[in-house]
Amino acid sequence: MAGLLLEVVTPERVVVRETVESVTAPGSLGEFGVLEGHVAFLTGIVPGALKYNKDGVSHFIAVTTGFCEVLDNKVSVLVDAAERAEDIDVERAMRAMERAKERLAMARERPDIDLIRAELALKRAVARLKVAEVAKVSR
Ligand code: ATP
Repeated sequence: MAGLLLEVVTPERVVVRETVESVTAPGSLGEFGVLEGHVAFLTGIVPGALKYNKDGVSHFIAVTTGFCEVLDNKVSVLVDAAERAEDIDVERAMRAMERAKERLAMARERPDIDLIRAELALKRAVARLKVAEVAKVSR
């Protein structure tokens, strides 16, 4: 079996390049799964948990915003940032979440606060915390 090649790439680095059995990812139209032989498709990626299975073991990666292309048994994920569960700094993500929540709470009275930016920061932080938690539970 040729398998499915998963690549998760950011502008800074290659986070994953591995042959895997399956991939589940947070698409802009909802979560989607890919197995070997999947038809070609292209979708946006939103902050969340990307999961892949290899040798019967599940691995989790926090992804932010970007795109995913599935073509010829290759899943290419290009996102602004991504971290393997074990590389996530939980305290940093907690701080980022608190900061974003404070900004969102102040946004009503403060037109200088960029609401969309704060919402996206919150989503990134929540995705990182979720991945760190899910990976801990699945160990
Ligand atoms: P922060 O405000 O803590 O920087 P952020 O959501 O603004 O969070 P990003 O701009 O998404 O951070 O990412 C910048 C870089 O920092 C990327 O390389 C990303 O992988 C890394 N990064 C961000 N948060 C964490 C975290 N909690 N643990 C590990 N790496 C992180």
